[in-house]
Amino acid sequence: MPFNVWGHTLPEMEEWIVSKGFPKFRAKQLQDYLYRRYVYDFAEMKQLPGTMRDFLQKEAVLTKPTIMSSIKSNDQDTTKILLKLSDGSLIETVCMHHVYGNSICISTQVGCAMGCIFCASTRNGLERNLTAAEMLAEVYAFKESLDAPIHSIVLMGSGEPLTNYEEVLRFIRLANDPGLLNISFRNITLSTCGIVPQMYRLADEHLPITLAISLHAPNDEIRHRILPVSRQFKIEDVVKAARYYFKTTGRRVTFEYILIKGVNASVENAEELCRLTGRMNCHFNLIPINGTEHIKLYPPDMNEIRKFVSVLEKQGKSVTVRRQMGDEIQAACGQLKRRYLEEQ
Ligand code: SAH
Repeated sequence: MPFNVWGHTLPEMEEWIVSKGFPKFRAKQLQDYLYRRYVYDFAEMKQLPGTMRDFLQKEAVLTKPTIMSSIKSNDQDTTKILLKLSDGSLIETVCMHHVYGNSICISTQVGCAMGCIFCASTRNGLERNLTAAEMLAEVYAFKESLDAPIHSIVLMGSGEPLTNYEEVLRFIRLANDPGLLNISFRNITLSTCGIVPQMYRLADEHLPITLAISLHAPNDEIRHRILPVSRQFKIEDVVKAARYYFKTTGRRVTFEYILIKGVNASVENAEELCRLTGRMNCHFNLIPINGTEHIKLYPPDMNEIRKFVSVLEKQGKSVTVRRQMGDEIQAACGQLKRRYLEEQ
């Protein structure tokens, strides 16, 4: 198998370059071509000696996904791309253009095994895990053409990051690497549906990344109905693991809570949510459900949302209601891919 030069730290690249008989400093030059100058054709890497370019062409490959389609929302603040991986798999990556910089939302798996009833990514199950190099390429697919810096990365696209633990952690370290994306850990958010043992494992890595937990319900009964994987973990254990995460890393966790009319959005639900989380230092990100008319799940009206928010706020909770960026370009998980496949 030829060596894929994409997705390595500088020390890893140095080790490989030296093992092939080239001086160590050539690794840095190669890394600069890839991650600073976006030159992906070995023949065009003119600062490398001809012998090394020939060697790379024979012994190495640069395997990266290709952009199949891209759409921008009407208000221009969200762009979504569909990427084709080397094995033909399709994944989605989203860029949200904020005033303070760009935020990239990456997928961590092709498909997803979690089975959440409202999520388009999971309908065909899990196809495979993404590698760290593929996740890195998702970010570069945007980075090359952006005129503003990347401020943050959220692991909130298709897939459950904590069931692809090693590659996700490797990606997070690559994203933080000064020679690659140089994104601070604090500006990386990992979203999980609450895989309890892996939440403890992540806490014990002591990385100051933000943990977002898809809670979506105030009790097990409702949670089991919409998030099948939750049957394996009691909601109280998820909250306990979240407390441990805060205690261990000092990072306040975010609870994501999809608001679904008639399912989990009543005042009683909000009160129960307050009791469940008690006095813990956390943030609530409420997300009116989107794009699921086909399964007859709808967001509550504004009035109901306001009531829900005010119950939480009265208890002193920090709450935001997610602005629905890119709704019309189907930014929610897996919806662009489904449409593309249906058109084929
Ligand atoms: N598996 C991880 C990360 C991927 S999903 C997790 O569950 O957190 C990222 C977020 O998008 C989750 O909070 C998920 O519940 C939410 N989401 C999925 N489909 C949605 C939809 N149709 N409307 C609103 N949010 C959705």
